[in-house]
Amino acid sequence: MFSSTKQCSCKLLFQFQHKLRQSSKNASRSCSLKVKQILSEPLEEKKYEPEQYDETDSEITFRFKDLTTKLCNPDQLRAKPDEADLKFGHIFTDHMLKVFYHRKLGGWQKPVIIPFENISLHPASKVLHYAIELFEGMKVYRGVDGKIRIFRPELNMARMNASAISSGLPSFYGDELIKCIKRLVEVDQEWVPHSPTSSLYMRPTLIGIDGTLGVQQSESALLFTIMCPVGSYFSGSDDSVSLLADPAYTRAWPGGCGDKKLGSNYGPTIRVQKRALEKGRQQVLWLYGPDHQITEVGTMNIFVFYEDEFGERVLATPPLNGLILPGVTRQSILQLCDQWKEFRIEQRAVTMSEIVQRSRSGKLLEMFGAGTACIISPIRSIEYQDELIEVPTMQQQNPVYHRARAELVAIQYGHIQHPWAQVIE
Ligand SMILES: *Cc1c(COP(=O)(O)O)cnc(C)c1O
Repeated sequence: MFSSTKQCSCKLLFQFQHKLRQSSKNASRSCSLKVKQILSEPLEEKKYEPEQYDETDSEITFRFKDLTTKLCNPDQLRAKPDEADLKFGHIFTDHMLKVFYHRKLGGWQKPVIIPFENISLHPASKVLHYAIELFEGMKVYRGVDGKIRIFRPELNMARMNASAISSGLPSFYGDELIKCIKRLVEVDQEWVPHSPTSSLYMRPTLIGIDGTLGVQQSESALLFTIMCPVGSYFSGSDDSVSLLADPAYTRAWPGGCGDKKLGSNYGPTIRVQKRALEKGRQQVLWLYGPDHQITEVGTMNIFVFYEDEFGERVLATPPLNGLILPGVTRQSILQLCDQWKEFRIEQRAVTMSEIVQRSRSGKLLEMFGAGTACIISPIRSIEYQDELIEVPTMQQQNPVYHRARAELVAIQYGHIQHPWAQVIE
């Protein structure tokens, strides 16, 4: 019974395939038309002030004014999680933003906000084979005045476009994505935690979706943004980390793309991170070169604060020489500390032998990592060539890491008004 049905359906399938082959030319032509229709299907039209622009600029960018929003039905809305059990990146908001790029259809299509959904991809999509993928990480914060703020998004947009260009993916006007993202936050605003320490993390992502196996530029791409509420940046107790610095591993090299947020930079770090955990260390301190330069800690930029041989205090961080991800937090810390005018700031190579030597002389004061996810993460110790270097970050009076973090938090949560934190709505 079963096998005969199978046979029967197989026969049908063959007949059908045969027919398809005969009309394949027409089929492919009508197919691309259909794609265009689906993409431009009006969802829930919202009218915005028209802007003056050239209708043919879709090769250069998509536009916020073309954004349409399709809201969830009330029964699709999900319960918000308890703030206490907000694990990073586990629970996502009700809506997402999507923008397709199809070179054959003129480039960028109209952005849409839709209920959160799975993505369907051709199995040959370039993202699945050659990791043609890049992402951003940014946050919005609910301030003490109840207003929602976004922190220096134009820097994320500049970096995202740099990543796109290095992957052969289409670039776009950062302002247009910021406006779309702000609208997405508005739609899901109840997901921005009502808490002075939590926030809503946003993950703008761009992937190459051409269903063709050539190692070539992707003719089609999908830009999407998903968001998830994330918990406290600071547990209240000692949150300092211990690092493993093993020169056997490298995450970036000259002429590579370590300075771009490409997915392909992160997959190969997982086994090294696992090794650090097995050795009882929380993060990897990434080294580079025969002189073991420190580059980054986990997925954070690194800072060293010490007293030099003349008794002058110095904050040092590796320079943006292609090995370092140009962090928004890094740049902000450098700018804030520059305004304090209390110590010298240096962007230069720092080697492990320098760290060891400053530690031995008792002049190493602090080390910390910096990134959007945990703002600033103080470093307690470094395992390096069978030695454990103790870093007295947590023993300082009024440490730099703590003051910088407090100032960033004050800006992000609206305790102080600052141009870096833009109010949404
Ligand atoms: C994202 C990231 C950072 C931090 O960048 P921010 O813009 O401050 O969040 C630092 N290093 C690496 C490797 C990163 O991926």
